[in-house]
Amino acid sequence: MIRYIFITGGVVSSLGKGIASAALGSLLQLRGHGVRLRKLDPYLNVDPGTMSPRQHGEVYVTDDGAETDLDLGHYERFTGVSARKSDNITTGQIYRSILEKERRGDYLGATIQVIPHVTDAIKDFVLSDPGDGVDFVLCEIGGTVGDIEALPFFEAIRQLGQELGPERAVFMHLTLLPYIASAGEMKTKPTQHSVKELRSIGIQPDVLLCRCDRPIPETEKRKIASFCNVRPASVIEARDLGHIYDVPAAYHEEGLDREVLAHFGLTGAPPPDLTRWLSISERIHNPDGQVCIGLVGKYTDVPDAYKSVMEALDHGGLANRVKVEVRLIDSEQFDDMARPLEILEGVDGIILPGGFGERGAHGKMRAAEFARNRNVPCFGICYGMQLSVIEAARSLAGLSKASTSEFGNTGETVVGLMEEWTRGNEKVVRTAKADKGGTMRLGAYPAILREGSLAAKIYGQAQISERHRHRYEVNAAYIEALEAKGVVFSGMSPDGRLPEVFELTDHPWFIGVQYHPELKSRPFEPHPLFSSFIEAAKIYSRLV
Ligand code: GLN
Repeated sequence: MIRYIFITGGVVSSLGKGIASAALGSLLQLRGHGVRLRKLDPYLNVDPGTMSPRQHGEVYVTDDGAETDLDLGHYERFTGVSARKSDNITTGQIYRSILEKERRGDYLGATIQVIPHVTDAIKDFVLSDPGDGVDFVLCEIGGTVGDIEALPFFEAIRQLGQELGPERAVFMHLTLLPYIASAGEMKTKPTQHSVKELRSIGIQPDVLLCRCDRPIPETEKRKIASFCNVRPASVIEARDLGHIYDVPAAYHEEGLDREVLAHFGLTGAPPPDLTRWLSISERIHNPDGQVCIGLVGKYTDVPDAYKSVMEALDHGGLANRVKVEVRLIDSEQFDDMARPLEILEGVDGIILPGGFGERGAHGKMRAAEFARNRNVPCFGICYGMQLSVIEAARSLAGLSKASTSEFGNTGETVVGLMEEWTRGNEKVVRTAKADKGGTMRLGAYPAILREGSLAAKIYGQAQISERHRHRYEVNAAYIEALEAKGVVFSGMSPDGRLPEVFELTDHPWFIGVQYHPELKSRPFEPHPLFSSFIEAAKIYSRLV
């Protein structure tokens, strides 16, 4: 029997609903249960693929090629369960499929309405096959209660609560308990109002997870329980913590997993074995040293735009027992050739993340040149790899006009568009569609690593599979010219047509990858490229 946990948020956004859901998922796993986590996003975009990272943060890509919400990244990192296309839905997707059916005449003349058609589609999504061995499906509703666009989602989960019954559905609500300094008190009113709002649409929360910056006095807990109609033990303190990986153990201490299970009538099970989280926390809080990594990108004013990269760097730090301090450096400032790069002098490694468009790209190339000349460890990801290849083509192979067609027409298209790709036996043809959604090479593709290369040593295997999200490719026609000049294309698509990994031979650590390795890095399984990059930065920091 599959049980459902619905997670909603109130009072304000950014309370950490995604992390709380991911942490609960992990705790249930550690008690021996299979979990799947799903995100329901009430916005109208079909997916976040077309949204600016400034609006939405990073776009998280799944193995099966979906562009999804960044919370799915938290789910994967905390639980190790790979997310799928079927784990994220938006209002846009629901309306699109309903309207397609309506045009085909599938509704046989019926009037199409939010209730029941939209709510039924949401329910179908929640109940759709979670895969084998799953005991709990955790569904997080994006936004906060009271948002107009979220109403059909709340109505759908309300109906599900009624249809599944309390043995199979639990509602968890995340709220804020602000501390008002002038009054010297923690205030419960916003939580009361939020729950009132939820109850007005028919949902009675079972568990309240209360974000706060200090302990909740017992009297306040009792007050919340009484006014919000929940068991006192189900008012869970969710205090601010030093690191997100401290969350599972802390929420367990407060009784989160125990209470959720108790609402399903599942009591008496042995507690979860938290050793792995405790050892991660121990490593995070007691590092042996520190390295400073310069992240040179265009969206440095919105760190969420590089969420998985930042996390993967942390994982690399965990593997090497060092704290990774990330210095976010705006690449656009270096587009101006007169601007000195001295800010890069103090870093132990440079990471050039993915990106789009010409703005800030020249600055990234200058950072790549700096790293190449100074022997600073450098890691180029996707656009960062493409731009590093162009920089090497210009500086090492004398191709002064080397460029990418992303900048418009150029003399030497070292990076350009490919018309088709294959995934396994399936042909994925990128058609010249007028719309921009889903027209990239998306999802997991295999690559073959060259024996003896740095990449092959780091991975310890010859064939890899990594997730992609890009339109342009390094042009294989330039491989020979570049390989004659100290460059190695150490990873290629199995058909040998698409460069996937690029290395500089005369450099301690300079690797560019066409894919996004950060998406598969997890605290318990740091991605080998990130572990190796941080190790190189550690060595570099001792040399300089
Ligand atoms: N803009 C580049 C492309 O579309 C790289 C994309 C990325 O870095 N994700 O190919």
